[in-house]
Amino acid sequence: MSTTSPTIPKETARHVLWMYDRLGGIQPGSCTEHLIRAMQTADVYRSGKLREAFPELSEAVHLARYDDEGIAKLTRIARGLAPLGCPNCGDEDGPFDAKTGRCETCAEAAA
Ligand SMILES: [Zn+2]
Repeated sequence: MSTTSPTIPKETARHVLWMYDRLGGIQPGSCTEHLIRAMQTADVYRSGKLREAFPELSEAVHLARYDDEGIAKLTRIARGLAPLGCPNCGDEDGPFDAKTGRCETCAEAAA
């Protein structure tokens, strides 16, 4: 398995966000939708095969499922921003709120 993370295209981030009912998500075509569902349910072997064939989509699904800040990162990518950084103040140090993608300071201020 490759150790480098593929760059996730904006459109791919939006498709995965839609699968997780998140703001900024856009419904993918049915094939992509099926691929995402397959990635969500695949065993390790099949997951590796899917990753070889669809590295960007697989990386986006992996972020959403296993990275504490994955949804926040995908939200930023979907907005055309760098994967890490507060959408409110631009802080890139984190940690970031998983739901809003904001830094802790801005997330607490909004709560
Ligand atoms: Zn902030």
